Amino acid sequence: MEDFRKWVVRAAEWGVDYRARLRELPVRPPVQPGEIAAKIAPSPPEAPEPFEKVFADFERDIAPGMTHWQHPRFFAYFPSNSAPASLIAEHLVNAIGAVCMLWQTSPAATELETRAVDWLRQAFGLPDSFQGCIQDTASTATLAAVLVMRERALDFTGNQTGLSNTPRLRIYCSAEAHSSIDRAIWFSGIGADNLVRIPIKGPLRGADPDALRSLIAEDIAAGFKPAGVIANVGATGVGATDPVAELAAIAREHDLYLHVDAAWAGSAMICPELRHLWAGAEHADSIVVNAHKWLGAQTHCSAHFVRDPASLTRTLAAKPDYLHTLGLSEVVNYSEWGVPLGRQFRALKLWFVLRAYGLEGLRTMIRNHITWSRALCEKLRATPSFEIVTEPAYSLFSFRYINASTDLDTLNLQLVETINADGRIYLTQTRVDGRVAIRFQVGQFECTEADVMSAYDVITEISEQL
Ligand SMILES: *Cc1c(COP(=O)(O)O)cnc(C)c1O
Repeated sequence: MEDFRKWVVRAAEWGVDYRARLRELPVRPPVQPGEIAAKIAPSPPEAPEPFEKVFADFERDIAPGMTHWQHPRFFAYFPSNSAPASLIAEHLVNAIGAVCMLWQTSPAATELETRAVDWLRQAFGLPDSFQGCIQDTASTATLAAVLVMRERALDFTGNQTGLSNTPRLRIYCSAEAHSSIDRAIWFSGIGADNLVRIPIKGPLRGADPDALRSLIAEDIAAGFKPAGVIANVGATGVGATDPVAELAAIAREHDLYLHVDAAWAGSAMICPELRHLWAGAEHADSIVVNAHKWLGAQTHCSAHFVRDPASLTRTLAAKPDYLHTLGLSEVVNYSEWGVPLGRQFRALKLWFVLRAYGLEGLRTMIRNHITWSRALCEKLRATPSFEIVTEPAYSLFSFRYINASTDLDTLNLQLVETINADGRIYLTQTRVDGRVAIRFQVGQFECTEADVMSAYDVITEISEQL
């Protein structure tokens, strides 16, 4: 294309300007379904179009229809950080455009991945018995873990024979677990009926170990075959955290594979004072932490730690002739550690982020987010028309607006929608013990205390207008 340099520079500069003016934009765009599609030509052009026009259409029709995940007042879902250093790394990765499935399809990508993941392991205080790779998402890391659970329990025969003549496998997790776990159970052929929910107890809404023990005993007595346990560290709804050490002890007793889903909260484990919250994770078989949520590196960057890579590759690696790397039997081919074959160069952004901000810089960010989230929680607690539903877990708490209405669920859903349509902040809701609660998480890379506290004014102002 003509003027390649001009447009690359223009795109990079557009990104810098975009980031600089985010605070002025509504976090969620004020668009209706179908509104953007209506602006896009229904058919592709036969002849090349001037790039000036392509770029102008992007600026006019597409950019304003985006939800701004890097907006400092994005308090919905979980954060999806894209720190400036990560964005710069991605510019380079995009320029190179490599597919990093085998060592020989990009030696530097593979070797940097090994190092960067080991840096993270050290940053989280995990023992050097763990190795790891960077999966695209926590969903596929968890799918890989569940497939290993299946194969281990079937003596690595399931891939060959299927599940029709095997004992019924059972996997255990609490009701707080993320929907990616349900889906991994479906896709693995184990079936949702065999995902056993462990009751929760206590303020952390963690799985009850005694209940797990009884469930396993009942399943064994019924002729089922327990295969694995999935523990939450900071589950999505309200940050539920299981007693990992106790679950690990039970898993060990029964030779079950233990996977820890710390997709969001795992990043906080760079702070030594928070590690008690996942004590026992060092005994897990598999742990996933999305560095693309709360650790600066943009999506996709799920660190997947495993204690026994051989069980992972034995489950997942296919070796057709065209993937053979002759004479290179000692190298790591990371595509054998996950579900997709093709892989992006994901380690560069992690390496850039860890170096550009240092662990101390990242710890300061996480500690600030937790402090500010607590401060907002206290302010809402002290406001008569609000109640705190779940206490701050890391930087996430939930609250509810209360007035004389008899239908508080509808009222709170209406409050969330009105706040999001207003655009100054962005929130999401969940259900806690069957009732609607509004979630508030602090995690955007560049948000400030003022951004967080401004949410108080928006929430109270809009609630009074309902
Ligand atoms: C976000 C999240 C997931 C899913 O992460 P993806 O990377 O989007 O697949 C799974 N578990 C928890 C606890 C999460 O917060």
